[in-house]
Amino acid sequence: MNTVKFENGDEMPKIGLGTWKAKPGEVYEAVICAIETGYRHIDCAPIYNNEKEVGQAIAKAIDEGMVKREDLFITSKLWNNAHKKADVIPALKNSLKDLQLGYVDLYLIHWPIAQKPEKINITSPDDFISLQEIPILKTWEGMEEALNEGLTYHIGVSNFNIHKLNEIIDHAEFPPEMNQIELHPMLPQNELVEYCHENGIQVTGYAPLGSYDPSKKDRPNLIEDNIVKRIAHKHGVTSAQILLAWGMCRNTVVIPKSVNKERIKENYDSIYVKLEEVDMELLADLEGPHRFVDGTLWTIDGSPYSLDDLW
Ligand code: NDP
Repeated sequence: MNTVKFENGDEMPKIGLGTWKAKPGEVYEAVICAIETGYRHIDCAPIYNNEKEVGQAIAKAIDEGMVKREDLFITSKLWNNAHKKADVIPALKNSLKDLQLGYVDLYLIHWPIAQKPEKINITSPDDFISLQEIPILKTWEGMEEALNEGLTYHIGVSNFNIHKLNEIIDHAEFPPEMNQIELHPMLPQNELVEYCHENGIQVTGYAPLGSYDPSKKDRPNLIEDNIVKRIAHKHGVTSAQILLAWGMCRNTVVIPKSVNKERIKENYDSIYVKLEEVDMELLADLEGPHRFVDGTLWTIDGSPYSLDDLW
């Protein structure tokens, strides 16, 4: 099965193209290449500063008959500066305009962190708004409105822990259908994934290749990990394909980012890799836990947020 299923039966492809850090001038070709390769799922967000270019590529692919809109699965996310209930729909409409779409398939609260509307980036602790001031349930009501208006087919969250998920599940009219969190063998988050699945929440794993950046020598490198390489050698595939197969084998969605045509194709072909139990056991022994997106951006001195509260 190359999809996960929502409660209403809608399916979401287990592999999608990530677009964070895909630079303007690069992401257009990446999206076209991905669609040509067979990807039907693109993971976007306004904070990636490239939704316009992603939208141009989607429009071209649809116009030229490469794909039909209804066969694509497009995710976007609500940025932290639009957490007020009244700001959710306008923010989504901005993304829709940039993406040249009438609806997204999935809309997520990007982080359980609120910022002042005029502050897209945090430069001082004064730029934050606490969750006491804008409770997450108020933001969620805005998400439900977007769902009711048909601007998105599904709603969910990202970077939410069990406690914060419960806050919504216990009170909301529509519970979250997705939690997008960092997942790879160095951060399997078994308890959170299990909790989501038991509560009908699908899970997407971001940074599935460990946000691979060979220039960063001071942090673990999943692609070059010896255990990952050994399993890849055994299957005659690449390390990246093993890491992606690991995520899909756990019934989670993976969204590797690439702007390189060979790697976009290589990543897609991970859907054909079948891992054995012994491979999963070896991968469970990788060092960790290690977060590549550690959340420290939100916990600068004077911030109302703390890492303990976040994770
Ligand atoms: P990934 O784990 O997807 O790693 C991306 C890096 O790996 C890029 O440098 C890419 O370079 C390289 N790469 C891609 N494929 C291969 C390959 N086959 N072999 C070797 N290197 C490869 O990291 P991301 O942090 O980008 O996470 C993926 C996506 O998840 C994001 O793009 C975004 O859409 C989402 N995300 C969501 C977050 C959230 O808070 N909800 C946070 C972080 C990410 P190149 O492009 O040159 O191939």
